[in-house]
Amino acid sequence: MDNIVSFGTRVLVTGAGGFIGGHLVSHLRNMGVAHIRAVDCKPLSEWYQSFPDVENLVLNLTEKEACRTSAAGMTHIYNLAADMGGMGFIETHKAECMLSVLINTHLLMAAREAGVSRFFYSSSACVYNGDLQRDVHVTALKEEDAYPALPEDGYGWEKLFSERMCRHFTEDYGLETRVARFHNVYGPHGTYDGGREKAPAAICRKVIAAKLSGRHEIEIWGDGQQTRSFMYIDDCITGIEMIFGAPRLPPLNLGSDRLISINALVDMVEDIAGIKVRRRYNLDAPKGVRGRNSDNTLIKGLLNWSPEIPLEDGMEKTYRWIYDQMVATPALAVAAS
Ligand code: NAD
Repeated sequence: MDNIVSFGTRVLVTGAGGFIGGHLVSHLRNMGVAHIRAVDCKPLSEWYQSFPDVENLVLNLTEKEACRTSAAGMTHIYNLAADMGGMGFIETHKAECMLSVLINTHLLMAAREAGVSRFFYSSSACVYNGDLQRDVHVTALKEEDAYPALPEDGYGWEKLFSERMCRHFTEDYGLETRVARFHNVYGPHGTYDGGREKAPAAICRKVIAAKLSGRHEIEIWGDGQQTRSFMYIDDCITGIEMIFGAPRLPPLNLGSDRLISINALVDMVEDIAGIKVRRRYNLDAPKGVRGRNSDNTLIKGLLNWSPEIPLEDGMEKTYRWIYDQMVATPALAVAAS
């Protein structure tokens, strides 16, 4: 295991103003990493989490010079920066999603120049072949199912290309890279409105808005029978650390293997909220694949990692956090309904 807390470790986290990046910085601080550099293109005031004892930089990492500045003097890099969002975003912003290729490419080049010893890339379950995800009772996706390639248009192609870029930087230049394919990560301190939010946060926001307004009706994208699996952020951070510290590995699934329909997820949020809502199904809304689940055989065998936080517990924490944000901003609560 490469020890991230050892003397002289200097760690760069990109996308640190976002959901997973913010939690990762918090975790690295708690572990006692001496020097952390956190980079995001958003103004610092808009980061979900920021810490005064961390070197915080606002830079646009599609630019090569910004990547050089970010990587200079660093020993380890976690790249969590990407222009992304839930289905509502990635189905309508394919070029923007693909332009994230500049972030990972320039960052790999900068990492090599800076002599970085290890580099993490956050890939996605969207790399998997769409033909394998046409049924709600989907067979869980194994790592080898990414090829022959037919990933999510735009976002998924960028992820698959960037995975390969990491692989070839390892093979050709000896830069140690690790890749995780995240399957739907959720939790507090993430996007829950504005168009980039994903299903768990969107459902929480809609149910909370229904509760606060007294108008107990929500819109659901699709027929609600589509299935997914959802991993709580703490499990994701533990998994990132294990993958990052392990000897050379192929890209690994990092996700939950508990398949659940969107309707069942709404049932769960109703229970947390203590209300029942009428469901208005919008069949024209972006829906993504019909079913998607993570096969965790490889990561369990190689690293003995499995998610530990039950969906009910994680959703309750997520709901409470979003509720607090919405109550603190009453205009938002009304608009979100
Ligand atoms: P997020 O949108 O909350 O965070 C991404 C951050 O990257 C944002 O703060 C954004 O401002 C920043 N960013 C975008 N373009 C940038 C640029 N040019 N320069 C600097 N910063 C830039 O998303 P997240 O959920 O934290 O996702 C982190 C990573 O994990 C991404 O690569 C994403 O594709 C991947 N991923 C996430 C999920 C999930 O369920 N959250 C699933 C699969 C993959």
